[in-house]
This record gives sequence, structure tokens and C-alpha cells, in this order.
Amino acid sequence: MTFDLRARLEQRRAADLYRQRPLLQSPQGPEVVVDGQALLAFCSNDYLGLANHPEVIAAWRAGAERWGVGGGASHLVVGHSTPHHELEEALAAFTGRPRALLFTTGYMANLGAVTALVGQGDTVLQDRLNHASLLDAGLLSGARFSRYLHNDADSLDKRLGKAEGNTLVVTDGVFSMDGDIADLPELVTRARSKGAWLMVDDAHGFGTLGRHGGGVAEHFGLGLEDLPVLVGTLGKAFGTAGAFVAGSEDLIESLVQFARPYIYTTSQPPALACATLKSLSLLRDEHWRREHLAALIAQFRRGAEAIGLQLMDSFTPIQPILIGDAGRAMQLSRMLRERGLLVTAIRPPTVPAGSARLRVTLTAAHSPAQVQLLLNALAECYPLLEPVDA
Ligand SMILES: *Cc1c(COP(=O)(O)O)cnc(C)c1O
Repeated sequence: MTFDLRARLEQRRAADLYRQRPLLQSPQGPEVVVDGQALLAFCSNDYLGLANHPEVIAAWRAGAERWGVGGGASHLVVGHSTPHHELEEALAAFTGRPRALLFTTGYMANLGAVTALVGQGDTVLQDRLNHASLLDAGLLSGARFSRYLHNDADSLDKRLGKAEGNTLVVTDGVFSMDGDIADLPELVTRARSKGAWLMVDDAHGFGTLGRHGGGVAEHFGLGLEDLPVLVGTLGKAFGTAGAFVAGSEDLIESLVQFARPYIYTTSQPPALACATLKSLSLLRDEHWRREHLAALIAQFRRGAEAIGLQLMDSFTPIQPILIGDAGRAMQLSRMLRERGLLVTAIRPPTVPAGSARLRVTLTAAHSPAQVQLLLNALAECYPLLEPVDA
């Protein structure tokens, strides 16, 4: 017996790191049913409340009637259908890039883009806190791979000085577990001065940042020259599923030729692209969702600071409460759950050791009254947390 799986599982349990999957028994939204319990949830990435929007559902349904349910083949065989093509053109227009390419998931978009752009003899430099899919992509690429200090342009600069071959600098736009945003104007300057390319994965910025929801690129006004490789995912603020890479004609053609996670997989269901086309128009045109969300974020931060909670440097819908110890983070999450609130504890290895947190996320579907319920419960539970060495 070479695989002692049981021992490894027990070890993880003893370290308060064991993961479980809550069973969602309702559609996504602020009010959910999980494992038989009705809960008010503050942990989805459905930032604009579009995952269960009637117009998006209607578009999906109409798409299924017209195009069927399965993609049927990969894009390069006979799976690239009209709705996929229309969505790519709409995403290119939305991001102000010449072209966009649709992927089945954000994980695959990141694997595909990084591995198509760099390989042996090249260099990939990443923020330490980048999403796991980017870090995995860096390792898989075979390029020299180094991580710079979080959001630290000087730390990046040192590594740029030693870089060999084509050099790709990769960062999250909005950091998924901290909610802060990358210092892109500075990263752009440093990357360009060394002839490196910048790639931004803006999974959490699209829909939530920028006047039209164009994410960090719109927020900072960064065009193609500054930001040649722009990745967005569709399973968060868009409320559907999939992802895209936006950039130049040559970039997209290179991905079509060389990105294995694009080439060797079945295209997403065309009806899904129909649904995303609808959610894109809601996301872009209905500004009230972003305005409402901004008001909720301000309300939450004011209230949490009054309670004495340790917040992070974030003005995005990701508003983590730093706890530190994984066991205490779990305890606070459990206490909230006993009061009907669902907020997930995020523990290592998803975040660095000693920085366990409750990852509160707010959405445009929440009401001010619901945010107040969360604040009241936190005010009640936080003082009850056991000291670390109890
Ligand atoms: C969620 C996420 C991904 C993965 O996207 P999926 O479409 O869920 O696979 C990639 N990058 C970041 C920063 C994310 O938060």
C-alpha cells in the first residue's frame, strides 16, 4: 500500500484545513438554502446578481431552442458556432480590443494564454498572491518562474533585471482573496521599460469596476499598448460561465494556434454564449447595480470599522475580515451560520499561513437591511471568539 490517503486526510482535518462542499439547494442569490438551512449568504462572486436574472435565463432558454444544448466539438473542428462568434465580437468591442477569444473556464484561459506565450528560455513573473490558475500556468509553461512581493513594483523590477527571453508579467486585476487592486499604472511603466508584456486576469474587476464595468483596464484607462493581454471570466459578475482573453489580432491568432486548453476541449454550449450576450448588455448599460453595490460597500466598511474588525485595503465587493488563525476563522464562520448567515472562512493554502479570514462578498442583489443584519451578527459574535491560545 503506497498511497496512505487516509493519513493525509486526517492530517488536514487535525490542522483545521479540511474542506467541505456546502450543498446549495436553491438558485444563487442573497437568500439561499444550504444543507437544508435557509441562509443569508455573503460569499458568492455573483457581484451583480445576474446568475439568476430573468432576462439572462430567457436568453439561455431561447438560445437552447435555437442552437441546442451541446457545443458538440472543439472550436477548430465544428464547435465554433454563431453565438460564440457574436459573443467574441461583443467582448472585443466592450474591452476596446481588436479581438477576444472565448474559453470554457477562467482556469483554462489562464493556462492557455501563459503557456502559449512563454516556454523554455523565457521568463514569467507573477505577484505572490495571484490566483492559483495563474501560478499553475506559470509552472506548466516551463519558463523561468519567479514571484514578486505583493503589488510591489520594486520587487518586480529586480526580477525584470534578471529576466531572460520573452518576459511576461502576470497579475490579478482585483486580488481574489484580499479585494485590493493591482497598481497597474506602475506595473505598466516597469514592464514596458524592460520590453516585457503585461497580462492581467481581471476576474473580479469586470462588471464591478469602471463606469461601464470594464474592470481595471477601464478604471485606469489602459489600452492595448499598456496592457496587451487582458483576461476576464464570465462566472462572476457576468453571472454565467466561461472566460475570454482580449488583445491584438496576432495575440488571438497565436492562442488559436498554440493554446492547448483552447484547442483540445469542447466549445461551451452555444446557448450559454446567448445568455452571456444578454448579461453583457445588462452589465454594461445598467449602471445602477454598480452604484448600489458601491453604497453597500461603504455601509459595510463603516459598520465593520465601528465594531473594530480588521478589514483589508479594498474598495471592491471583496471585503475580507482578517482573523489570522484558521481555527478562529472557522469558529466565527460557524457562529454566524448559527445565526442564519453564510460567510466562508478562507484558510491556507488558499491564503498565506496565519492570514485566515472571513471572505465577505457583497452583491448588487443585497439590500442595505441585509448588510445591516450581517453587521449586527458580527457585532454580537466577534467579541465571543476564543483567544488564540485558549
Ligand atoms: C475565479 C477565478 C479564476 C477562474 O475562473 P473560472 O472561470 O472560475 O475557472 C481565474 N482567476 C481569478 C483571479 C479568479 O478569481
